[in-house]
This record gives sequence, C-alpha cells and structure tokens, in this order.
Amino acid sequence: MKRLVLVGPGHAHLYVLEALALAPLPGVETVLVSLGARQLYSGMVPGWIAGDYVLEQLSFELEGLARAAGARLEPGGAAELRANSRELQLGDGRVLGYDVASFDIGSLPAGTELPGVEEHARVLKPLERTLTVLTEATRESGPLLVVGGGAAGVELALCLQARTGRPTTLIERGEEVPRGMPRSARRLVRGLLARRRVALRTEATLVSLSPAAAQLASGESLPFTTCVWATGARAPELFVRSGAAVDARGYLAVEDTLRSPSHPELFATGDCAGFISGQHVPKAGVYAVRQGPVLSANLRSALTGQGPLQSYRAQRGFLSLLNAGDGTAVGAWKGLAFQGRAMWQLKDAIDRRFMARFQRLAGQRPGSRQAPLSEE
Ligand SMILES: Cc1cc2nc3c(=O)[nH]c(=O)nc-3n(C[C@H](O)[C@H](O)[C@H](O)COP(=O)(O)OP(=O)(O)OC[C@H]3O[C@@H](n4cnc5c(N)ncnc54)[C@H](O)[C@@H]3O)c2cc1C
Repeated sequence: MKRLVLVGPGHAHLYVLEALALAPLPGVETVLVSLGARQLYSGMVPGWIAGDYVLEQLSFELEGLARAAGARLEPGGAAELRANSRELQLGDGRVLGYDVASFDIGSLPAGTELPGVEEHARVLKPLERTLTVLTEATRESGPLLVVGGGAAGVELALCLQARTGRPTTLIERGEEVPRGMPRSARRLVRGLLARRRVALRTEATLVSLSPAAAQLASGESLPFTTCVWATGARAPELFVRSGAAVDARGYLAVEDTLRSPSHPELFATGDCAGFISGQHVPKAGVYAVRQGPVLSANLRSALTGQGPLQSYRAQRGFLSLLNAGDGTAVGAWKGLAFQGRAMWQLKDAIDRRFMARFQRLAGQRPGSRQAPLSEE
C-alpha cells in the first residue's frame, strides 16, 4: 500500500480530492492534513463581512470531502516536514511517513513580525481568524485601519466600511492601490474609496503598532480602535528547515510540473509553491484553481509510475472582481475596468458555482448548515 499525503485543503487539493472521488487509486491510502475541520473560501469572506452571505455558504466540511475521496482527515495540521526521510510531523507530534506528499497550505501575511502586530492587529491568516474581525468591527466604534492595499485589503476596507459605517483608513506601502492591477482599475478604485469616505494613504510604511495607534516611518501616528492586517504574501515557515529545495523567498521550490527538483516525491501548488522556471505565477486563488487538474494528473503519475508529468502554464491574465460591499463590484480585465451591479452578480455566480461543486462533493447541500458554526 502506498501513502499519498495532501497537506492543506487549499484550492488545488479540492480538485485532487474530486478526481480521487471519481476515480479512486487502488493500492493508495490518502491522508488529508488540515488546520481544523472546515475550510473557509477566501473569495467570499469580504461578502460575508458585508452581509451578503452567511458563514455556511463559504465553508467546506473537510470530513465530508475526505470521505468522498476515500481519504482520512488529520485536522491537527502539519508541524514539520523531514523531506530526506519522507516524514511529516503532525501538530500532535505523531509522525506520518509518505510515498508522495503534496503541499497546498497557502501563504502567510507579510510584516507580522513588526512590533505590536500580532498583539494589536487582526491578522487574517489562518482565515478562521477573520471570524473575530467582524464581531470586533461591529462591536467597537472609532477609527478602523486596514493595512495592505492589495485586492483583499481594498475589498475588506470597503466591506467593513459598508457593514459598520466606521471611519476607515486603508494604508499601503507602495504607490499602487489595488497593488498589481491595471491603471484603469486603480483610477476607478481610488474614486470609489473617496466616494465611500475610505481614506487612502499610499507610500505609508508602517513600522509598529501600539494598542491604539499605528506608527509610520514618517513619524506620523494613526489612531485606530480596530486594525485589520491584510498585507501581501510571505512563505509558510515549514519549508526552510525541511531539507527540500526552497526558492529565494522560502517557498517550496517546484518545476513547472509542480514537483520539487530536490525530492521528486514532493509536490507543491498554490501560494506555497515557488516556481523556479521563472514563469510568473501571482499568489492568488485563481492560479491555484488552474493548477488543480495538472497536480491531480501528476500525483497519479508519480504514484503509479505511469505517464509523463504535465506542465502547468499560468494564464496570462484573469478577470479580477472586487466586492465593493454595496451590492456592486469592480471588474478589471486586460486594461479595462468597470463597476456596477452586473459585476457583483457575475462574481456572486462564479463564487457560488465553485462552492456548490465542492460542497456537493462533501455531502453538504450548497449553502446549508452541516455542523454548528461559530461566528464568535
Ligand atoms: C480576504 C481575502 C480575499 C481574497 N479574495 C481572493 C479572490 O477573490 N480571488 C483570488 O484569486 N484570490 C483571493 N485571495 C487570495 C487567496 O486567498 C489566496 O491566494 C489563495 O487562497 C491561495 O490558495 P491556496 O490554494 O494556495 O491556499 P489556501 O486557499 O490559503 O488554503 C491553504 C489551506 O492550508 C491550510 N494550512 C495552512 N498551514 C497548514 C499546515 N501547517 N497544515 C495543514 N494545513 C495548513 C490553511 O488553513 C488553508 O485551509 C483573497 C485573500 C484574502 C485574505
């Protein structure tokens, strides 16, 4: 019997589980390692904050997903990877050997090592932590500060402002907001933030947080009663001491086949993969989704020894849809940008379809409550 260990129930692993449910691999025991019993879908978190969804509409029950795929769930997380001995240490100390292991554990928010951040900010990863943000943001009053001007930071600032009506400031270290989006989308988002009275501070580098204020490199101090940390990605800590090759930023190094160049039985996908071929793969869920079918085929090849590995090629661009929290969304596609209700309807339909596919697999009725959900 061979053992396949899937670490992290990220986007691409959902496709691997679906493929295993449709076509089981004889002679292979599959283990899914997660942090907890459910997975929240990040794309719908801003909508949940805005009040568009209830929590069960954006969560997968992992026990059901694992069962459908004939896999065993280990919900205590992975603590350490020992690549040279093909071992994974779980959060409770047990050690799991593997023949093939695949990592889809996402990334961590950058800058959390700055003084005061872990203590005074609501850091959004693991995503379950978002649950406390809404309670705190609706309970408290006073200034709300969102740190990080990427797509997620913009959505959270707009949705929190819409839900709470609190004075909101979005701060970003660089010049561009949303970071990495075309100029037309940036212009549109700036106008939207201004109309919604979300103060935008660009080229503002945060150096530390005290209980009620953020200190900037300029010497300025910005007061807050709630601070939400939504910065860009940094590598999970698991890989640097694992013995497997990592890229310059500490992500698990992979070839375009999603396989490790140093340990051919190791694969990585989504945010936690560092592509060494030089192809540009942004850290976003839409890229992780497209890696799913390639990963699934390649894990089968690695386990059966049959067939060449497929290569993943990142799409050249994608339709970005940002929830504005007021029943509209901003859409950006190849240099064009739009805002309106139709964009929101499109985003809602895409997200619901994605959820329904895997919720059905998990034995959930799409959007239904399967287990008591805590919204804290
Ligand atoms: C609020 C918000 C909104 C976003 N909206 C979008 C969007 O609309 N579109 C988009 O493309 N991107 C969006 N993103 C970015 C997106 O969330 C990530 O790029 C994407 O989730 C990465 O997918 P992944 O498959 O790599 O991992 P993830 O989806 O992050 O899944 C990783 C899983 O692994 C688990 N895990 C972590 N560590 C361990 C461990 N040690 N052991 C076991 N399990 C572990 C995590 O708990 C998580 O369940 C958003 C991000 C945020 C924060």
